[in-house]
Amino acid sequence: MSIANAPRVLVVEDEESLSVLLEYNLKSEGYSVERTARGDEAEILLAENPPDLVILDWMLPGVAGVELCRRLRAREATRTLPVIMLTARGEESERVRGLSVGADDYVVKPFSVPELMARVRALLRRAKPERIASKLTQGEIELDRETRRVRRAGRDVHLGPTEFRLLEHLIERPGRVFSRAQLLDAVWGQSAEIDERTVDVHVGRLRKALSRGNEPDPIRTVRGSGYSFDETFR
Ligand code: CA
Repeated sequence: MSIANAPRVLVVEDEESLSVLLEYNLKSEGYSVERTARGDEAEILLAENPPDLVILDWMLPGVAGVELCRRLRAREATRTLPVIMLTARGEESERVRGLSVGADDYVVKPFSVPELMARVRALLRRAKPERIASKLTQGEIELDRETRRVRRAGRDVHLGPTEFRLLEHLIERPGRVFSRAQLLDAVWGQSAEIDERTVDVHVGRLRKALSRGNEPDPIRTVRGSGYSFDETFR
């Protein structure tokens, strides 16, 4: 089954039987599927024509899945590409590492195929809105996802990657209050290793970068709850 405009999924898995099984199931769900057994080949495919989602095995010949994921995140074109990592049981302790290199989800083998398909659907649903709007504007602050630039009243605001993601997350939903745990989850990716105070440190840096002199602070601290982008900010 091949459908024009079907979401494209790249399966990077060196276990042939599993790779074939995944291809079969993904195709029957209507996705267009490419497969490779090698990390280095996957890297070439990903650079040539990034798919809509990658299912990436942890241990691979060529380039390891975890290293490949790190490289995808470092590259502009694939920074937000949804990645599901697969791993064998026993490598579970590596979960935090997988998520810290930027995988969106993590599945331990042997897994149920319907469950993996559900996660693929969920990730693609979540990823889509991000691709619609490249520029987010709130008051005099403008964030451009494609160029990774932020401007306030026309001047460039220089942010580190974490502050950028933090602002991106807040400005997407002005007025909504996010707890520190929610921000950790969204910006750092569910890693349990990071202290919630880290959020405060980065919010502080974000504020400092955004506001000059007496300019109003667009980030609101909600006591006992967390942070939000001030929806009344103009
Ligand atoms: Ca493997």
